[in-house]
Order: sequence, then structure tokens, then C-alpha cells
Amino acid sequence: MTTKQMQNLPSVRGKYLFDEPMRRHTWLGVGGEAEVMFLPEDEADLQYFLRNKPQNLPVFILGGGSNLLVRDGGIKGITIKLQNKNFAQWRIENNLLICGAGMQNFALKNILPENNIGGLEFLCSIPGTIGGAFRSNAGCFGCELAQVLHHAKIMNGQGDILEITPEQFGFAYRHSDFPSDWIILEADLTTITKKSEEIIAQIKQNEDYRKEHQPQGIRTAGSTFKNPQEKAAWKLIKESGGAEMIIGGAKMSAQHCNFLEVSDNARATDVEKLCENIMKAVKTKFDVSLELEIKCVGQK
Ligand SMILES: Cc1cc2nc3c(=O)[nH]c(=O)nc-3n(C[C@H](O)[C@H](O)[C@H](O)COP(=O)(O)OP(=O)(O)OC[C@H]3O[C@@H](n4cnc5c(N)ncnc54)[C@H](O)[C@@H]3O)c2cc1C
Repeated sequence: MTTKQMQNLPSVRGKYLFDEPMRRHTWLGVGGEAEVMFLPEDEADLQYFLRNKPQNLPVFILGGGSNLLVRDGGIKGITIKLQNKNFAQWRIENNLLICGAGMQNFALKNILPENNIGGLEFLCSIPGTIGGAFRSNAGCFGCELAQVLHHAKIMNGQGDILEITPEQFGFAYRHSDFPSDWIILEADLTTITKKSEEIIAQIKQNEDYRKEHQPQGIRTAGSTFKNPQEKAAWKLIKESGGAEMIIGGAKMSAQHCNFLEVSDNARATDVEKLCENIMKAVKTKFDVSLELEIKCVGQK
């Protein structure tokens, strides 16, 4: 950011954090700093910022940081985080659960059974926020966000608020065609009436599955690579020798070799290099091009 851009940041009601270490905001806990992080107070504050920010200022939207690798050079420009509780409000209207984009998916674990609404049990076990789940069409246990999204409220880069239907997002497996300067504000999710005991039992079954099959308590970002059509990513990684690779403080989990695991001394370059080496090994052995599911952002 130039000095002039820095001096011309609009006076907002929310907070600016300067040189904010991004490791505090991501599950992997590596990488550099956000040059400026903006924590808007509410929608009006966010809109005021977008309409008055200096021209050509790069903007990145951060969710819960559970699918992100921030590179060691950090993120230039503005990183916006919808951390204020005003972005985590929810309400029920008929069969829709309307969730603020800053709400943690884990909060659904209480909201669903307390209100006898089901259909979103899969989301309860995915780390991160509603906004992040939406952007990457998060899913598990045979369901994904696109299947339950009724419509959404977003703010575009000019600060205009738009109501959008799922067809406009081009959802595919762990993908949405979402303009990079759009900010998800709210998602209206379709629910079904369900007994609270059944909801609790479903959530527990999903959690038990994860405990048994996925590593717990490690610094990870979930599945590192998308599953290609040919074969599960973990099998390709294992059979090409990727599961044994170690670069600096980064390796693949012994329990599930599509999950990255980083140690305290890891740098983002270790993680990126490890991913590159695995991709090369899989390409050489199987002629399959693995695609990253984690999102790499920032400067090297
Ligand atoms: C232990 C573990 C298990 C996981 N299991 C799964 C799983 O089963 N299924 C699955 O799909 N994923 C899984 N993940 C990955 C991750 O949790 C999901 O991708 C999650 O939806 C990311 O949400 P987030 O809020 O953390 O987003 P972030 O990681 O912060 O950001 C992800 C992307 O979303 C964008 N974004 C975030 N908020 C907004 C917003 N309000 N408006 C516009 N763009 C926004 C960001 O710019 C970025 O491009 C797992 C991760 C971990 C650590």
C-alpha cells in the first residue's frame, strides 16, 4: 500500500489493525502479516469503507482461515474480516435459516437441535464460517452448501447490496464462480423440520466418523487436494510416495495423507513446496494433475 493510500483510509467505526500476523487468523498458523486488516463494525461500516477506500487498493476477504495458506510475504492491501458479532446474527423465517456470513459453522450444533431444524448437520463439522463455506462450496457426508442454499445477500466491490440465487454462483465440487471482490453477507439456507434427538444423533455420528478417520488436534487446513475423477487424492498421494515427503516443518498426516500437518517451525514456503512436490510425483506416476483445495494467498 502506498503512503498516500494509507493516509487516505476512510474513517470507519470498526477497527484497523496494522501489520497483523496472519498466523493468528488461520488454522495452519504460518505466513506473513496482513498489511492492514479491517474489522468492520457492521454492514453500513463495510459499505462506507468500500465506497470511500483509495482507488486500486487490493482487497482480500478472510473467513475463519481454515482453508488458507498465507504466504510468508503476507497480504498486501486490505484484509477484511467479518469478525464483529453483527455479522454472526441468525434468524429463522419459515423453512429458511438465515445466517450472517461471519457465523462459525460450529454454532449450528446448538442452533439446529434447539429449533428442531435439520438438513444442515453436515455443516456443523466443517471448520470456518458460513461465508467461507459458501465461497468454496464446502461439503462432506454427501452434502454440499450449494444443495441447501436458497439465496444470498452479498456486497459487491462498490458497496452495493445484491440478492443472488444459487444459479448465479456457478457452484461445482469445492468451487464457486464468485467474483473476488464480492463479499458474502448472509446466506439463506433451506432446512427441514426434524426432531432434536435425531439432529443430535446425526451430528454425533458425523463427529465420530471424523474422530476415527481424520487427524485431530493438528495444524491443518483439511483436505489439501481436491479428489480428481480418477481416484481419491489420498490414494494417489500414498501410492506416489507423497505421504512420506517432509519439507522443513511440513508433512502429510500419518492418519490421512491428504491432510497437511505443520509444526511450530514451519514456513509457508515449506507447505507450498511440499504441495508442489506431491503434485509432481502424482503427475509422474499416474499422469493425473492434482488441484489444490486449500487456497494460497499473499506474496512469496
Ligand atoms: C480440520 C479441518 C477439516 C475440514 N473439513 C472440511 C470438509 O469436510 N469439507 C470442506 O469442504 N472443507 C473442509 N475443510 C476446509 C475449510 O474448513 C472449508 O473450506 C471452510 O468452508 C472454509 O471457511 P473459512 O471461513 O475458514 O474460510 P477461509 O479459509 O478464511 O477462506 C476461504 C475462502 O473463502 C473466502 N471467503 C471467506 N469468507 C468470505 C465472505 N464473507 N465473502 C466472500 N468470500 C469469503 C476467502 O476469501 C477464501 O477465498 C476443513 C478444514 C479443516 C481445518
